Amino acid sequence: MRLSRYFLPTLREDPKEAEIVSHRLMLRAGLIRQQSAGIYSWLPIGLKVLNKIAAIVREEQNRSGAVELLMPTIQSADLWRESGRYDAYGKEMLRITDRHEREMLYGPTNEEMITDIFRSYVRSYKDLPLNLYHIQWKFRDEIRPRFGTMRSREFLMKDAYSFDIDQAGARHSYNRMFVAYLRTFARLGLKAIPMQADTGPIGGDLSHEFIILASTGESEVFCHRDFLDFPIPAADTDFDDVAGLQSIVDKWTSLYAATSEKHDEAAFAAIPNDRKVSARGIEVGHIFYFGTKYSLPMKATVTGPDGKEHPVHMGSYGIGPSRLVAAIIEASHDEAGIVWPDPIAPFDVSLINIKVGDTATDEACAHLHRALALRGLDVLYDDRDERPGAKFATADLVGMPWQILVGPKGLADGKVEVKRRATGERELLSIEDAVTRIAG
Ligand code: ATP
Ligand code: MG
Repeated sequence: MRLSRYFLPTLREDPKEAEIVSHRLMLRAGLIRQQSAGIYSWLPIGLKVLNKIAAIVREEQNRSGAVELLMPTIQSADLWRESGRYDAYGKEMLRITDRHEREMLYGPTNEEMITDIFRSYVRSYKDLPLNLYHIQWKFRDEIRPRFGTMRSREFLMKDAYSFDIDQAGARHSYNRMFVAYLRTFARLGLKAIPMQADTGPIGGDLSHEFIILASTGESEVFCHRDFLDFPIPAADTDFDDVAGLQSIVDKWTSLYAATSEKHDEAAFAAIPNDRKVSARGIEVGHIFYFGTKYSLPMKATVTGPDGKEHPVHMGSYGIGPSRLVAAIIEASHDEAGIVWPDPIAPFDVSLINIKVGDTATDEACAHLHRALALRGLDVLYDDRDERPGAKFATADLVGMPWQILVGPKGLADGKVEVKRRATGERELLSIEDAVTRIAG
């Protein structure tokens, strides 16, 4: 992609409304634009990152056995009256009346709707377990939307819902998601720690928030430092292996980790001092077993092996891709701008033409652009007629993993400069070596 033909509206000045670095950088690097409080447009490179995150989330959901569908954003109030949540949800729910005076709402979550889909089609325990998910926009009229897409009113969520005949089955479904989440966040370049979370009136220990440590996080968290070095389950993990998954979950819950709501001073005090982490964190995912909370009032039952009707045991499992864009930037930036982890960078390479109009430089850039594209790399080619300094600053700000600087001086020796954004490491290489260096 030629930058001169692209749409990358960067800002030179720090926007005043942005309190935290990720919000500042998302506005400055042209990822998002605020349209009203807590509601954002996703500009081209922001959308690319969001889509890449969603694709990784999807791959890991599918790998664990979950099945994707898509439910609408607008729901009917009647469905929510069945569970009793229409009145209980309060002001966070955006309520809408259509032209026929029917009460509708913009979905903040989908437990009721998925339960309705389930009860309409599934009759027998033989069709279980089942886990259905979608990646869809949600709306919650947050009292204090802030920090950009970290806490917005409209946001993207992957929400999965599991259905099982009994609690033991639900436990395995929960474990599948637990392991899928460990893999998902690791692939996004994050160290997310599963922490005990509140289960509300249902009780039990089957609720975890996945938290990444960040000084700007809204949650206060306490955990054992060893979690930061725990091995991530491999891609060939067998998600049907009940005991195998349970042992992974047991390991990942063997040490202390809790948010302030579930904090246990005595348990924390028992951790050796050099292993104690008391920090702030960002919740990027939440998994939750809630039994028959919806299936009972909404009459979602299946026939069991005993020939009787049983309400299904359910769980729900959320991840916030739009919050993750911000969370990843909080975890990966420097004074000059964003430092994208390779798998979710909007482009793989910023190719910088230092002297547009110089025949040799233009030709070398065109050649590199083609050669890298042929190797499957996504290149943002800065062909604008701008000062080199401004181009370098833009490349650092938008944070693609690789930069190639091409100018007449280097080319006179047959060289271009390859810079790794994360380390700042620079190498002078021939054009062909530059391609191999980056494309591997
Ligand atoms: P929080 O405590 O941060 O408000 P929550 O407990 O309300 O989150 P869930 O209902 O568990 O969140 O939603 C699942 C996921 O959706 C969260 O882990 C988070 O990644 C994302 N999410 C929730 N609310 C927002 C929001 N206002 N803006 C962006 N992402 C959000
Ligand atoms: Mg919330």
